[in-house]
Amino acid sequence: MFFATATPAPGLKVAFTDRLDGSSNPPFDSFNLGKTDLDDPDDVLANFDELRQALGVRHIVTVNQQHTADVLIVNRRFLNSWGIGAEVGDAIEGQSRLPIADALVTNERNVALAVRVADCVPVLLADPEHRVIAAAHAGRVGLLAGVLEVTVAQMRNLGAREISAWVGPHICPACYEVPEQMARKAWELIPETEATSAKGTTAIDLGAGAQAVLESLGCGVEMLDACTCETPSLYSYRRDGDLTGRSVGVISQ
Ligand SMILES: [Zn+2]
Repeated sequence: MFFATATPAPGLKVAFTDRLDGSSNPPFDSFNLGKTDLDDPDDVLANFDELRQALGVRHIVTVNQQHTADVLIVNRRFLNSWGIGAEVGDAIEGQSRLPIADALVTNERNVALAVRVADCVPVLLADPEHRVIAAAHAGRVGLLAGVLEVTVAQMRNLGAREISAWVGPHICPACYEVPEQMARKAWELIPETEATSAKGTTAIDLGAGAQAVLESLGCGVEMLDACTCETPSLYSYRRDGDLTGRSVGVISQ
């Protein structure tokens, strides 16, 4: 279930899931937490139930991720409308039920925030003292659009001061070959993303880019990563295409 976890403060849990020990059948086997309409929604729901129990929370809030820099503020009013099983609402009844955003921020308790990934960078953030937590989906587009900057700004609006960040498994630059023009655009905006693929072609280092942005915002950064494409126990879109599942980066308090 978990690829990596951390407990930065009592009651505060940081976790990145893998694909092991779940209910989904191949090719989504087996701990798929994706919004896919290809997998059986009952299996995805069962996987979310397992995760909710493991975290000991009432709610796991997810969003309809669209590679934006939009952040959902999860407040009490929002949670009152969020039922058990709502996290897979898109899998069952269409994506419209989930708010469109690529990051979530809250200072509420007994709730988990989750972002789905299969190669993109999951980033979890917390100010343990002031109990403000966040989860962000930082793929190439979102990272360049400033999703991490907006997330940190929203955390500070809710009272966060000293922010720690955890970067989870994502595709490594050796595996992330992209067209030269695309690479150069990323390198221009965030120089730390400059990389060469295993083939010697232009590549983007998403993890180094996320780390650089977070550090520039004053966050302490811990890398809990591995390459999704090279690790069989993790989902990878680059490796498996559409017929794969999604892991989550999830943070709860
Ligand atoms: Zn790799």
